[in-house]
Amino acid sequence: MAQWHAAHPFCARCGTRSEPVQSGWARSCPVCGAEHYPRTDGAVIMAIVDDEDRLLLGRQARWAEHRYSCLAGFVEPGESLEDAVRREAREEAGVVVGEVAYRGSQPWPFPASLMLGFRARAAGGEITVDGEELESARWWTREELALDVATGEVLLPPAVSIARRLVEDWFGGPLHDGQDAWR
Ligand SMILES: [Zn+2]
Repeated sequence: MAQWHAAHPFCARCGTRSEPVQSGWARSCPVCGAEHYPRTDGAVIMAIVDDEDRLLLGRQARWAEHRYSCLAGFVEPGESLEDAVRREAREEAGVVVGEVAYRGSQPWPFPASLMLGFRARAAGGEITVDGEELESARWWTREELALDVATGEVLLPPAVSIARRLVEDWFGGPLHDGQDAWR
């Protein structure tokens, strides 16, 4: 909220300096009367599984070595959540997604996102990373992922994240690694 106030001092309709109202949960323009509220940007994050029930994880080049996570991306204007899941899967990894099921959400206020989590079923396509958002992606069986997490070959997101919840939702229980202090 503090960041939103700092970044939105003026009325977006007429340019006058606006004032905090409703205990700081909104801003009001003293000239044109417009009320302005903080935005929340929808972002989808998804555990994609194939017809062998393997899980797709990917990594970005700027992440720490061995870090892998679920695919994710922002919802675009006019797009349904399900279509955002399908577009991001195809754009980032070349995977065609069919069925999409909602699993839960997590506010991520850095600065203004709401992460919406899904389980998604791959319907085809070959993994082809775009090289921009993802530098690599692959499928894991439960046995492979348990082994790679235990040995440190794969570093999953911390337990506070919806990404970890989606991975463990697919896995069927907690995955133990050297970051158990986070749990
Ligand atoms: Zn105004």
